[in-house]
Amino acid sequence: MKLDVDVLRYLTKEDFRVLTAVEMGMRNHEIVPAELVERIAALKHGGTYKVMKNLLKHKLLHHDASKYDGFRLTYLGYDFLAIKTLVNRGVFSAVGRQLGVGKESDIFEVATEDGTVMAMKLHRLGRTSFRAVKSKRDYLKHRSSFNWLYLSRLAALREFSFMKALQEHGFPVPNAVDCNRHCVIMSLVPGYPLVQVKQLENPEIVFNTIIGLVVRLTEHGLIHCDFNEFNIMIDDDEKITMIDFPQMVSVSHRNAQMYFDRDVECVFKFFSKRFNMSFHECTADIDGTAVDTDDSGRPSFTSIAKDTGFLDKELSASGFTRKDQEEIAKFIEGGIKKDASSDDEDTEDDEHISMLNEANTMGVDSLHVADQHDEQVESEGNVRTCEAGPSSEPENEDGSNEEGDNETVTNDNDAELEKRLNKVRRRAVTAARGGRKTFASRNTYKDKGGKSSNSSKIQRQLSSW
Ligand code: ADP
Ligand code: MG
Repeated sequence: MKLDVDVLRYLTKEDFRVLTAVEMGMRNHEIVPAELVERIAALKHGGTYKVMKNLLKHKLLHHDASKYDGFRLTYLGYDFLAIKTLVNRGVFSAVGRQLGVGKESDIFEVATEDGTVMAMKLHRLGRTSFRAVKSKRDYLKHRSSFNWLYLSRLAALREFSFMKALQEHGFPVPNAVDCNRHCVIMSLVPGYPLVQVKQLENPEIVFNTIIGLVVRLTEHGLIHCDFNEFNIMIDDDEKITMIDFPQMVSVSHRNAQMYFDRDVECVFKFFSKRFNMSFHECTADIDGTAVDTDDSGRPSFTSIAKDTGFLDKELSASGFTRKDQEEIAKFIEGGIKKDASSDDEDTEDDEHISMLNEANTMGVDSLHVADQHDEQVESEGNVRTCEAGPSSEPENEDGSNEEGDNETVTNDNDAELEKRLNKVRRRAVTAARGGRKTFASRNTYKDKGGKSSNSSKIQRQLSSW
């Protein structure tokens, strides 16, 4: 997916206020009623309508009129919110070329004022078509607050926390710099994904290092679950860096042994095919430690001494609730089976307020945008050889079928949309004057199980700044 950050420079404070208002509304609504956006944003009379039109034009919002007139953020809209926050924090000041396209992420170069280049990973959970359909279906069925926005945010936080923890424990991972929403900023890893490497000077050393990593992870209570040639970077000195950890699970997971064996198998298969290696002798001594292996030289899961509390400890230290863990784990395993309750509305409101606060105090001018190239390294989805982790379905070409809908609406139905927006605006104004509930809002709250008092509470708090 292209990330045209040029637009970002021209967005106003109001644009971001409305964008953030939609984000806030999405905590409780899959599609946020236009009227609710207007109330949360609380711009001057009629202002929100004009701003929404602009945001639609730039594809930062998606308009959905199938049940009522409403909006949701597009990936791009969510990207912009995260990028703006991080730019405002001084984490980076320029976005450059795309480094990679993962199964469920896009990776770009970003740079600081002093020219330090880092990597920005934008998580895109749910973009894989199979998942999008599945999660949507469950979403509608249970009317849960579970959505891609929430999931991508959890995935990013999970990855960021793991990266920090692994780094502290001496694992070769990128340096975790910062994290906001679905976006993780990390150091740029030199070299290439192992899948692109045709020859190695010391394949056995590299192989042993990699298998040693799987074993060491397990000793720390972790299984990578997507440990393969796509998620191992190697530089010219054949130094290894492992990447891509949002899907890691604990060694106490019921399928831990299976995930462990699969990670090991991926590495064995790859080295056997690509570098013609046979293994019987190589794995007796892994990374300086003797490891029990089976007849084929594969390390044995059961014989590794494991610290089972590691994962829980690290995740709770980074603010992950048990519920968050359960939700993301369900998604990672390819199915959202249970309704996610919205019993944390109050704390969410506080978060909403601070998010909007942040959006409003951010300066856009500081963002210098570097040239964008369309170059992409070999995409994971296209060349994967090992069976991937729980998240290996091929992705849609454009990243999401829903983004296509967005385009149709904004391009073809501009006039129609304008008319509808006008109507919604008039209704909202009438409702505000006469204190009558509009048809749209009645429908909305009933349909989505939201509470009108919730939104007015947000509005009250916002207008008191
Ligand atoms: P996904 O979770 O979607 O598979 P990854 O984290 O594996 O995403 O990243 C996809 C690709 O982006 C990698 O194969 C790699 O080429 C590139 N990439 C990811 N992180 C970095 C980084 N820190 N430095 C350089 N390239 C990176
Ligand atoms: Mg990957």
